Amino acid sequence: MTSPSVPEFYTPRRDRKTRIVATLGPASSSYERIKALFHAGVDVFRLNMSHGDHKDKEALAHTIRAVEREVGRPIAILADLQGPKLRIGTFAGGRVEIEQGAIFTLDLTDKPGTNERVSLPHKEIFNAISIGTNILLDDGKVRLEVQSFDKTKADCRVIVGGVLSDRKGVNVPNAVLPLAALTKKDRKDLTLALKLGADWIALSFVQRAADVAEAKKLIGGKAAVMSKIEKPAAVEALDEIIELSDGVMVARGDLGVEEPVEKVPGIQKKIIRKARAAGKPVVVATQMLESMINAPVPTRAEVSDVATAVMDGADAVMLSAESAVGDFPCEAVAVMDRVAKHVEQEPNYLRAGSDDLYMNTRTEDAITAAAKQVATSIDACAIVTFTSSGSTAIRAARERPQAPILTLTPKLSIARRLAIVWGLHPIKTKDVDSFEEMIGKSKRMAVRGGLAKAGDRIVVTAGVPFGTPGATNVLHIAWIGKNEV
Ligand code: PGA
Ligand code: MN
Repeated sequence: MTSPSVPEFYTPRRDRKTRIVATLGPASSSYERIKALFHAGVDVFRLNMSHGDHKDKEALAHTIRAVEREVGRPIAILADLQGPKLRIGTFAGGRVEIEQGAIFTLDLTDKPGTNERVSLPHKEIFNAISIGTNILLDDGKVRLEVQSFDKTKADCRVIVGGVLSDRKGVNVPNAVLPLAALTKKDRKDLTLALKLGADWIALSFVQRAADVAEAKKLIGGKAAVMSKIEKPAAVEALDEIIELSDGVMVARGDLGVEEPVEKVPGIQKKIIRKARAAGKPVVVATQMLESMINAPVPTRAEVSDVATAVMDGADAVMLSAESAVGDFPCEAVAVMDRVAKHVEQEPNYLRAGSDDLYMNTRTEDAITAAAKQVATSIDACAIVTFTSSGSTAIRAARERPQAPILTLTPKLSIARRLAIVWGLHPIKTKDVDSFEEMIGKSKRMAVRGGLAKAGDRIVVTAGVPFGTPGATNVLHIAWIGKNEV
């Protein structure tokens, strides 16, 4: 696919720091609908590789880029790989009911299942379980406990019974399974996603840092890597996973199956805190506005949930079924947009607890921390960063300044990738090669972008000399004169 260009000058303004990710699906696949979702506030579109085929994904990617061309703002595409999701086989009659207290066997034979046994065609599981291991079926609705097992089957006590049907999902929360990070399907989907120019690749069911390393090797820098935290093992290995990843997702859907649901809010806060401290974008996902799948208004509890993620300083909040298959995709985006905007105006937004996040002695961190302070003291209208890899911009965002961060980069792929990051207004622009040119361009772009006007001041950070990639070491205050705009 050829890369369509985004005009150099456009209105980068979004009056909101928190970003919105929307999953596309049957309810949101037309050009008109995707454009409407963008206008309602979507910054990142998620393609869920677990559903649909390659033709659908190709059409969606082309449509997103066509919308991007029209609106003139970089949009990120997040391709979410299904990962090693385990499933049972099928049943003779399509479904069975199993009763609490009974023994139910999972085995490797491929005969259709009954109410006494079903196939579990993943031999790795039988090597990773022990007596007492919990096995959850159908998003945890049915719960089993291993009583005895060998290399080909496990006899389990039914702790919570219920109806089971063909190919339902299986979770084994407390075991680290010897599964490859990417399945055969994932590898095919990844090839397609990269061909379509996805900016972010999300990895499902990451268990350990080595999974991220393996995926990164395959992706080879062509897209940024987001690890979905949805396994207890990933929560255990959080620090290393964050360090290796470009971003993380609090994937509450599966996390709430694998961990007791009451632990999810605490884990969410911990993931956000650690990701922010590391300067890695963090997305809060799943069931944020679940009732809006069928209703045009959210519940109070859902509004409070979105507000909490925003209040904690998450980079982005995400819609799943609400935008993919719901009846009110644009309304759901509009609710997120309004809630985020409002919460960001609260007097205590990001006041408490954000100062002690990072103690760091690197020059670039000192400059970006100073940029925030200076911008606040002089009431600057924008902080401007020049970035080629994106890392300077992400660092500036990590400080969570009050002023919007205008991010100028010569690479369209970087501008798109940064669309998921808190507070950034990425613009693709030609490179500069002198200090004067940099200041001039900062002023012009801030004005054209609607972030500043004559008489305003902006704070510019950059690395000097130009052309030598490296540390940000300059902080400059520029005043926009009347004859300059
Ligand atoms: P999924 O991931 O929607 O791909 O399952 C998100 C989650 O589990 O919360
Ligand atoms: Mn999931």
